[in-house]
Amino acid sequence: MDVFKMKFKGRIFVLSMVLLTNCLYIAYYYMKDGHIERIEIIGLPLILLIAWWSGKQYDKVKHLEDINLKKKKELHNSNQMFRTLFENAPIGISLIDQDGRPVLTNKKLQEILGYNEDELNAMTFSEFSDPDDSAINMDLLKDLLDGKIDHYELEKRYYHKDGHVVWGIVTSALYPDIDNETTYVIGMLVDITERKIAEQKLKEAYKEKESLSNRDGLTGIANRRYFDEYLVQEFEKARKTASPLSLIIIDIDYFKQYNDCYGHLKGDECLKQVANVFEKTIDQSKGVAARFGGEEFVILLPEIDTLGASVIANQIQGAIENLRISHIGSEISEYLTVSLGISTFNMESTSLTPEDLISEADQALYLAKQSSRNRIEIYH
Ligand code: GH3
Ligand code: MG
Ligand code: MG
Repeated sequence: MDVFKMKFKGRIFVLSMVLLTNCLYIAYYYMKDGHIERIEIIGLPLILLIAWWSGKQYDKVKHLEDINLKKKKELHNSNQMFRTLFENAPIGISLIDQDGRPVLTNKKLQEILGYNEDELNAMTFSEFSDPDDSAINMDLLKDLLDGKIDHYELEKRYYHKDGHVVWGIVTSALYPDIDNETTYVIGMLVDITERKIAEQKLKEAYKEKESLSNRDGLTGIANRRYFDEYLVQEFEKARKTASPLSLIIIDIDYFKQYNDCYGHLKGDECLKQVANVFEKTIDQSKGVAARFGGEEFVILLPEIDTLGASVIANQIQGAIENLRISHIGSEISEYLTVSLGISTFNMESTSLTPEDLISEADQALYLAKQSSRNRIEIYH
């Protein structure tokens, strides 16, 4: 009797075996409950060989089953992990079907938008998105579903259930559901409302500061600094587009006498009233009125030719007269009047510079002053 070892069911040890006709196997099974079972088998070596081979095959199947079980456990663990992450994520997550309906939403998303899961399930995301942003979002969603892009990121506005705007950055990617043979879009939303509000406040503060530094302290209209920048910018534009650009310089007549007669404070009041007329008159045009210095003002009129500028100059002259500001110190009228000089840049004056435009208008104004005041003169 020969002795060989055989692994059967992974736990069999063959202690002895008889070669010749019959063999005797004594095998010990380690049972599940821990006790050891002794089995004796007598048989032909061939039969025993088949038994040994079957044991091997069984081991293989068992091994595969073990792998499957391990995989199932891993899958279960990863599902569990996903669930935990999904439920407790600090960002809003939703699974959106191809109609834009959130079929699954996490707690954070419900908190950001103020709706519960059932309410969200009954809506499409465009119902709680800003319409302008929603249109861009739909285009990107289409590109995603058509396979043109594999994900997208978009800064957009949502509406909370109570109506306030929620700013968010949404990142979306495809989520193919193999089991149900469909494709979802998984959207991840980071709430950036606080940051946006802070940015907005900063922008407003900057705008306010910017606007203050561009405004004249007394009259509130644009100041010389702003005018100089605007003139260069508009001059360049006019040159490039071959469009006209007109400038009107306005000076109050006998203003020194006005101050002398009514006092400096009254004079200041008068400057404010006059400046208000300038702004109102050009309100509908692209022009800008600025205080050039002292009691001199300028009005720059992009895309307006000499004729158009004359019309505006006439309106201004009339509107100032209509203010009926008494001026006993004036030698030409009982009311406050102004003199105006006009100059225009056009295609015939291509060599002109912004400084030339001011100088020409100033020369025209000088002419108006020379010839009786309360007049409009055009530079030729
Ligand atoms: P003309 O008709 O030739 O223009 O005579 P005018 O008296 O207006 O001209 P002039 O340039 O001699 O005087 C301008 C006056 O404007 C002198 C100054 O007291 C007054 N002025 C300049 N800036 C201000 C201001 O901010 N407030 C007041 N109240 N007066 C100012
Ligand atoms: Mg003056
Ligand atoms: Mg004056």
